[in-house]
Amino acid sequence: MKLADYEPIVGRSVIEELRLLASKMAGREVQNINSTFVGGGVAEILNRMVPILQELGVDARWTVIKGSPAFFEVTKKLHNALHGRPEDVSDEDFDLFLDINRRNMAEMDFHGQTMFVHDPQPCALVERKGDAGGKWIWRCHIDVSSPDERVWRFLERYVVRYDATVFSAPAFSRPLPVRQFLISPSIDPLSDKNKELTSREIDSAMAGMGIPRDKPIVTQVSRFDYMKDPVGVIRAFEQVRRSIDCRLVLIGGGATDDPEGEKVLAQVREAAGGRVDIHIVAGQTRSDIEINALQRASAVIVQKSLREGFALTVAEALWKARPVVASDVGGIPLQVRHRLTGLLSHGIDGTAYAVRQLLSNPDYARWLAENGREHVRHNFLITRHVRDYLLLFLALDHTEDVIHL
Ligand code: UDP
Repeated sequence: MKLADYEPIVGRSVIEELRLLASKMAGREVQNINSTFVGGGVAEILNRMVPILQELGVDARWTVIKGSPAFFEVTKKLHNALHGRPEDVSDEDFDLFLDINRRNMAEMDFHGQTMFVHDPQPCALVERKGDAGGKWIWRCHIDVSSPDERVWRFLERYVVRYDATVFSAPAFSRPLPVRQFLISPSIDPLSDKNKELTSREIDSAMAGMGIPRDKPIVTQVSRFDYMKDPVGVIRAFEQVRRSIDCRLVLIGGGATDDPEGEKVLAQVREAAGGRVDIHIVAGQTRSDIEINALQRASAVIVQKSLREGFALTVAEALWKARPVVASDVGGIPLQVRHRLTGLLSHGIDGTAYAVRQLLSNPDYARWLAENGREHVRHNFLITRHVRDYLLLFLALDHTEDVIHL
């Protein structure tokens, strides 16, 4: 995939602007560091961001920290606590977090002008800033606006050592004594997850997953995570099902840094109670083409999260011009403008009501979905994201108020 391939989607001027900006930083080394190559939104973005930056002449790389299952148990707790969910985080947990970060510090090669550290898991690596040098950026993908104070105070000791922080939306950030940049995530319209598919490809993927297409399909694509509320989706579906014949699909592979998945999956299976019209696709990680096909084959896409980061799944659904019902949390309202690009919902009853509304008004659903696609085209495609990162790197190199390109 080449940058020129994006021209028919976003227009020539967007691509030319990227080339101009990148020409100001040819060869710049940018080392991305996170905690997993697969699963979840951060890996999803880096998978495409890194090759595009490379094509633009930026020396972008991607490294993953090594952690034990116990470390990922702790980081999951920290993640939940930062989202504001009560968690029992002990001093030993903080010690383990630091211990694993320090072991990674000792092993990792930190050469590069820019260290781009993603999310809390590797946040303490910044202790190496003094000897490694370069500019250090902490990119926070989660909503830390109302965190567990004790956990935030622990993390903040490291966050303040960075040269800059990046949050996904204004509402996600914290008052901090370091520069903050607000950059929304994005999706890649040409990736296997989002590219156009033929109806034959869609049919064959759906058959492969064993999902019949005889009735409208309501889908949630999400890791099996308490915050994504898959059990709530089942409860809402049960209400919808009383008046409209349809199927529910819950699909979620496992992220390697998420140990909670098995527990939530067991709860989901119990809530579904073996109903034949509820399809739980789990266990085996499904290909991006399969997720793409399922999203395209769905009549309504739901994202009933209790708390969210940005929710890439919403952008993916809107880009495919699918009608969306999603909770009014995290980055979702940036994407779903209520009654304009989709429906924002509250609680189980609200979700059921909105899903019913869309299933019984296909013209209205189509209108919302088409608006949603244009909203994503202008705001949430990877070309906009690359531009924002290039501007961020430039801004870090300059302290003057006006930068002449
Ligand atoms: N995803 C996937 N397979 C699954 C579940 C999720 O490929 O079974 C992808 C999904 O399509 C999206 C990403 O994982 O691209 C999840 O990102 P999001 O921001 O929605 O949530 P996160 O997992 O980061 O909280």
